[in-house]
Amino acid sequence: MSSRRWRACPECDWVMALPVLKAGESAHCPRCERELVYRHDAPAQRILAYAASALVMLLLTLPFSFLAFSMAGIQQEIVLFDAAQAMFTNDWPILALLIALTIVILPGLFLAAIVYLYASIAMRTKLPGTHFLARMLSGLKPWLMTDVFLLGVLISIGKLMGMAHVELGWSFVAFCFYVFFLVRTVSLVDADWLWFALLHEPAPPPGAYTGATAASQGIVGCPTCGLLNSEAETACRRCHASIVSPSRFRLQATWALIVAATILYIPANLYPMMTTVTIGGTIYSTILGGVMQLIETESYVIATIIFTASFIVPIAKIIALSYLCWLAAHPQPMATKRRMRLYRITEIIGRWSMIDVFVVAITVALMQAGLILSIYPGAAAAAFAAVVIITMIAAMTFDPRLLWAAVDSNMQQSSEELSKQKQEGYGN
Ligand SMILES: [Zn+2]
Ligand SMILES: [Zn+2]
Repeated sequence: MSSRRWRACPECDWVMALPVLKAGESAHCPRCERELVYRHDAPAQRILAYAASALVMLLLTLPFSFLAFSMAGIQQEIVLFDAAQAMFTNDWPILALLIALTIVILPGLFLAAIVYLYASIAMRTKLPGTHFLARMLSGLKPWLMTDVFLLGVLISIGKLMGMAHVELGWSFVAFCFYVFFLVRTVSLVDADWLWFALLHEPAPPPGAYTGATAASQGIVGCPTCGLLNSEAETACRRCHASIVSPSRFRLQATWALIVAATILYIPANLYPMMTTVTIGGTIYSTILGGVMQLIETESYVIATIIFTASFIVPIAKIIALSYLCWLAAHPQPMATKRRMRLYRITEIIGRWSMIDVFVVAITVALMQAGLILSIYPGAAAAAFAAVVIITMIAAMTFDPRLLWAAVDSNMQQSSEELSKQKQEGYGN
């Protein structure tokens, strides 16, 4: 029993002892069915191979032509960084920084950290800074948006196909491999295995027992490495990440972010995403206006993707998060599992809303001034990017353990009633 690792489910706070897992096996929470651990085969070697390949591909995406474009005898060629550069030259340095960060800089840092960490583990040598890097990994994960960017590139190509000839460059090919290797690397990172390899597993706090919530026994599960800590600690005993017990006060932060996102959603839809200047005049296209243009040119698939990602998903996410926050403040014991599904979906789909911002960046980069028509980014692109980022942070600040509080108090009540009835029964 002592060699088994004790965990509190990060979503429902249930304390359990993990079974000993073989490669290819996973452990799920018995109460909310969340996957807690998936054990990979030869994790260090595999992740090193994927992360190193992804780093090489990242370096190869930078120097060569990414996309080439020809229209009416005029040719234009761009490299990957031109997508960020185009935003910078059009006076949107924040959008330029956002694109550079989510596509190149943060994924590059993530991969370099992985190679350093897992090489240190594979060589069984303690290199400096490994604990800091291991703590950083889980925080970086949601901000790696290369897969979203790739879909954005494909949509931009689809949009331009009708009026111009678009050719894929060598950097684009390398980029596809980079995305594939990066996604594989992210899926192989296993915090549980990683922290055990780095610092082994300290025993759970004395007096802890399984089959109850951590909060009810005054202990807290570490959100970074999973170790159980006493509520009195402010930082995890193993990884030194800060730990917090479920508290309704944190809902205020989530509410504030939801309000901010809702306000920004208005300019994101009123202002133009893109401005197209031709000899004939200037066309301003908002998100919905752009979708209408796509329908007019019979690009139904792209119209559906843009409409869903840019219009439906952000508003659905705002409504879903508001509903979850309301439920957390007014807990009901019913249908908690279904609500957890809603919470997981809002966490996963949010980042895909960034597609339209990337489409604007690529289109602007390809159609720089000097051609027959030129395209400029609009104010809505910045407002919209802010909506996506703020709703992502709002989903991160939301504590799903609060949704289970009602179930717990209900169970406590019924067990108390049961023991009362028993006592009364024995009394007679
Ligand atoms: Zn659970
Ligand atoms: Zn920890």
